[in-house]
Amino acid sequence: MAHATSEPPTAAGPLKLHGLSVEGVNQCVHCGLCLAYCPTFSELGTEMDSPRGRIFLIKSLAEGRVALTDSVAEHLSLCLDCRACETVCPAGVPYGRLIEAAKAEIERERPGSLARRAFRWLNFGLLLGHPRALRMAAAGLRLYQATGLQTLVRKSGLVRLLPGTLGRGRRCCRRCRPPPTAGRFRQ
Ligand code: SF4
Ligand code: SF4
Repeated sequence: MAHATSEPPTAAGPLKLHGLSVEGVNQCVHCGLCLAYCPTFSELGTEMDSPRGRIFLIKSLAEGRVALTDSVAEHLSLCLDCRACETVCPAGVPYGRLIEAAKAEIERERPGSLARRAFRWLNFGLLLGHPRALRMAAAGLRLYQATGLQTLVRKSGLVRLLPGTLGRGRRCCRRCRPPPTAGRFRQ
């Protein structure tokens, strides 16, 4: 079912989503240089799963020209927020701020199932606010990888049972290419 944006902006007003400015969408010159560095575009091959396509969607949402449908929400939610596109953009599009505003709007309009909300609370409400719990979770994840359980889970297809877009996002992560500047930070 389609959902209209709750605060349709006026044509003359500043472009905002969830009260956050997305004026940066107008800096995109559609050159496409960022596409080769986007893991979701590499994996899915569709314009709307590329930085350029998502910028177009964010602009359209902010202008009230499209509604937050299942399809629009999925294209935006699949963004990993890795910001590899922002690093290579010659026009200086502040992509990170744009996608964060869009995701905040999605959270407000479409909070999702109880399982998804519980998963988010576990990560953002509990773990991130408690360093000790976060360290314990990280130790558990290292054990999960070291024991080979991760490989077993991947092969079994259980990843597909993760709520929402997490399963698809997880597959995209495996193809994530580092931006060209990544090497600068290595010693
Ligand atoms: S590199 Fe920057 S200006 Fe070019 S399409 Fe991507 S976001 Fe737009
Ligand atoms: S933040 Fe990462 S996943 Fe999202 S559009 Fe940019 S390069 Fe693609």
